Amino acid sequence: MLADREPVIAFVAVGANLGDAKRTVSNSLHALSRLPGTHCTGRSRLFRTTPFEAEGPDFINAVVRLRTRLTAPALLDALQDMENQAGRLRPYLNAPRTLDLDVLLYGDASICSPRLTVPHPRMWGRAFVVYPLADLAPDRVEPHHWAAVAKQNIVAITEPAA
Ligand code: ADP
Ligand code: MG
Repeated sequence: MLADREPVIAFVAVGANLGDAKRTVSNSLHALSRLPGTHCTGRSRLFRTTPFEAEGPDFINAVVRLRTRLTAPALLDALQDMENQAGRLRPYLNAPRTLDLDVLLYGDASICSPRLTVPHPRMWGRAFVVYPLADLAPDRVEPHHWAAVAKQNIVAITEPAA
């Protein structure tokens, strides 16, 4: 039973670069807070980023902090359902995407299964993760993390939440 599980703090990255990306990301932030057994306990600012290891128009990116009773695989299932509902296609690796939802951190868990690796293996090399994550969990971002993404183009397009 979902209600019997202890909640876990998870961080999820949200990104989009096709269609109305800003609207897609904003809608996703709301949808994430409505997942079963889940509360949103923080949202980063929205950021605009030049595609990095990806193609197409600029991305809109954000990170949310969730308090969730979903298991990590169940959370991934829910994220992939949301991606599919947003019309996500995967024509080739790193293709432009209407919506990308990645599990960055799931409590202190280290997960290495065929479909889920947590912490996300590439998160610390991506400005579009490091900057929004620092909005929510500045203690998790260390000087070498900032240094690793210093050359990537990223700009905040919204104000911090009050
Ligand atoms: P990417 O986000 O790496 O650009 P995709 O969104 O297409 O690529 O995801 C590819 C696969 O990555 C998914 O099918 C999923 O099973 C797997 N995956 C592994 N670890 C994670 C994670 N932490 N968060 C999201 N997906 C993950
Ligand atoms: Mg993904």
